[in-house]
Amino acid sequence: MEKHLVLVGGGHAHMVTLANLHDFIEKGHQVTVIGPSPYHYYSGMGPGMLGKMYAPEDIRFATRYVVEKQGAAFILGKVVRVDPEAKTVILESGEAVSYDVISFNTGSYVPRSIVNDGEKDVFSVKPIENLMDAQSRILELVPRKKITISIIGGGPSAAEIAGNVWRLTRDHGPNTPKIQIFAGKKFLSHVPNTMQSKVAISLKKRGIKILEKDYVKDIKTGQITLESGQRYDTDFIFLALGVKPSPIFKKSNLPTGPDNGLRVNKYLQCTAYPEIFGGGDCIYFEDRPLDKVGVYAVRQNPVLYRNLMASLEETVLQPFDPGGDYLLIFNMGDDTGILRKKRLVFGGRLAFLIKDHIDRKFIRKFQAMEQT
Ligand SMILES: Cc1cc2nc3c(=O)[nH]c(=O)nc-3n(C[C@H](O)[C@H](O)[C@H](O)COP(=O)(O)OP(=O)(O)OC[C@H]3O[C@@H](n4cnc5c(N)ncnc54)[C@H](O)[C@@H]3O)c2cc1C
Repeated sequence: MEKHLVLVGGGHAHMVTLANLHDFIEKGHQVTVIGPSPYHYYSGMGPGMLGKMYAPEDIRFATRYVVEKQGAAFILGKVVRVDPEAKTVILESGEAVSYDVISFNTGSYVPRSIVNDGEKDVFSVKPIENLMDAQSRILELVPRKKITISIIGGGPSAAEIAGNVWRLTRDHGPNTPKIQIFAGKKFLSHVPNTMQSKVAISLKKRGIKILEKDYVKDIKTGQITLESGQRYDTDFIFLALGVKPSPIFKKSNLPTGPDNGLRVNKYLQCTAYPEIFGGGDCIYFEDRPLDKVGVYAVRQNPVLYRNLMASLEETVLQPFDPGGDYLLIFNMGDDTGILRKKRLVFGGRLAFLIKDHIDRKFIRKFQAMEQT
């Protein structure tokens, strides 16, 4: 019997499913993909795009084109709510789309609760598309005067953004901006000390300041206030605070984890509604809470593809095994990287080349579908 599969978001965890939509269609099912952009941007290469190491076309996948080419439907829009009893999702436009089986890969967002409404020149690092607007605005401001660029956040994305905004602006002579990271109480507190110190040294030797005094309490245009009350002037702000899963699930009263991510079992299946699946940053994997890194979304790909098919065809589901430790490499923006795998940590050109090779291979594999 023909069933309707709906994919919400064409992120990292849906790539294999997107590449194989024709399989679902050949089996007589209808498929609809809903997303706010015709493209999906690969976050691993986002900071490099900010620094002009990569062009936007190098790091994106033409979701809409690939979906429609395989005979599936693409709806340009954003899902805001799910009605699991009626098996329907509601879009921002008010449109309702019904499903038999659905999968969410809607990612995460950077909370903006410390930003006053209507503030200018404050850019979140997600969605990755924001980095293109940030780049244009910085290149507009830099020739006018020596600006200060502030990055709020003390995690890996703050480190990569700082290094790559340095790359973007380094050739502006006396107007080369001042770059500062507001890292809360401790910069890179979740990575091993050896990696943390290599990253800090790499940034500091290029004049990038790392402030580890206090958390930021409030942001107004041109001003950052810490919890202590201390104020800092700035011209431009990147928000690289810890991400939170998409808010859809909490709003829809679906089971969620403590982070409000969709609570899923070992089959990446919602714990209350077996026809709802999810992957990537938007889920809470109840067996073992996972870091919000693309690595897990990528590892979930084949399992999600297989389980969506199994759910439509009423066959056996496959459990997801998150696997062991993952390789972490930062693109420092100066053609070097800093790599960590288990207890091994090293920095330099080779670390960057490994990251560049892995990232290009990943995106090219999916971009190849645009040519066939
Ligand atoms: C600057 C930066 C650099 C990073 N670098 C790395 C790295 O090198 N390696 C690594 O492992 N991780 C990295 N990460 C973490 C990584 O971005 C995330 O873990 C990864 O993007 C998660 O993938 P995802 O598919 O869940 O979400 P996303 O990549 O965010 O994809 C979500 C998709 O859903 C769509 N969407 C969102 N909301 C809706 C909605 N309401 N309705 C419909 N569609 C929607 C979006 O348009 C998007 O296409 C980085 C993060 C940042 C911010």
